[in-house]
Amino acid sequence: MKIVDIRATTVTVPLEAPLRHSNGAHWGRFVRTIVEVEADNGLIGLGELGGGGESAEAAIRGLREYLVGHDPFALEALRFAIANPTASLYNNRTQLLAAVEFACLDLIGLHLGVPVYDLLGGKLRDRVPFASYLFFRLADQAGRGEVRTPDQLVAHAKELREAHGFTVHKLKGGVFPPEYELECYRALASVWPDDRFRYDPNGSMSVAEARRFGQAIRDLPNEYFEDPTWGLNGMRQLRDLGIPLATNTVVVNFEQLATNVRDPAVDVILLDTTFWGGIRPCVKAAAVCETFQLGVAVHSSGELGIQLATMLHLGAVLPNLTYAADAHYHHLRDDVIVGGKMPYVDGTIAVPDGPGLGVRLDRERVARYAELYRELGGYPYDRDPARPGWYPLIPNDRWADPS
Ligand SMILES: [Mg+2]
Repeated sequence: MKIVDIRATTVTVPLEAPLRHSNGAHWGRFVRTIVEVEADNGLIGLGELGGGGESAEAAIRGLREYLVGHDPFALEALRFAIANPTASLYNNRTQLLAAVEFACLDLIGLHLGVPVYDLLGGKLRDRVPFASYLFFRLADQAGRGEVRTPDQLVAHAKELREAHGFTVHKLKGGVFPPEYELECYRALASVWPDDRFRYDPNGSMSVAEARRFGQAIRDLPNEYFEDPTWGLNGMRQLRDLGIPLATNTVVVNFEQLATNVRDPAVDVILLDTTFWGGIRPCVKAAAVCETFQLGVAVHSSGELGIQLATMLHLGAVLPNLTYAADAHYHHLRDDVIVGGKMPYVDGTIAVPDGPGLGVRLDRERVARYAELYRELGGYPYDRDPARPGWYPLIPNDRWADPS
């Protein structure tokens, strides 16, 4: 099998409401780039990467001359062909490599008639558990869906818990002042004392503030405290809190993982199939974590069904997946795959059993959301539509006003 073409299509899919985070917001939609890698046997492998719009499309198209003629089975060679670690200092291609790796794994699976999890060692579970990823939200254009107050947050969590069966809850913070978000987090935990909770302010607090917050939640059933402050050296200063520390920001490659093994700062590594350059690097990183008894979970950088499938195949094969995965998925109104959104049952999503990634593109939906992207364009992830001109500091002191 040889690659003959690679195509990219930018789509935008609406969210239930704009999702706020420490750096700004997702402005009511996700912008994703769908990657199609075509082989000489007529099969098409699917990949996906975040944001980017025209620039991501151009970057993917720019790989065409590197990839035409390449055998999709040659995955290890692929890494050096397009993202070798020293050349990547100049061309920064890890996330592009990830999208191409997804598509090549899909092609191999389609060619052999086996699911991707069978190429990764075989599945250990049929369903992957997920946390209810909770965001503070701006109201949608019709004035609905705001999540700002503790009552609104609890009501929103109740809806999601009832609809999807979540028993693990993650609050994305870093939007309002820490003492206000503390009140919100405690309100959540008081409703379901037997559920488990995570708080993630995306590294926005100072070490001292993170310490105060951590001390104030020690009595709660915290699974972990995710990126409370910035940097391995900041996180390391919080180890004495006695709450496991998790990260998807300061251990996102093997160099940082090695540093964290030699001088521990973080207890749980949130593996992101995009940040790490594919599903296979995440499996390798999970093996390092297993060896050194670090926890792992599956991170969400915002996904449609193709990327979700990569997270499900990853989650299916990791023996040491002792934490529920994260997904933005339940905030989407639709998907671009055949059959529409994959359903949650009891807080879990079934691992696709079809060949390859087990998801196919719904061409009508792709066309509709590509058109919507042309109509609406991109949005600045690191700006807040509610606060023109604003940008955060790290550590931040420019919190949104909760009133
Ligand atoms: Mg995070």
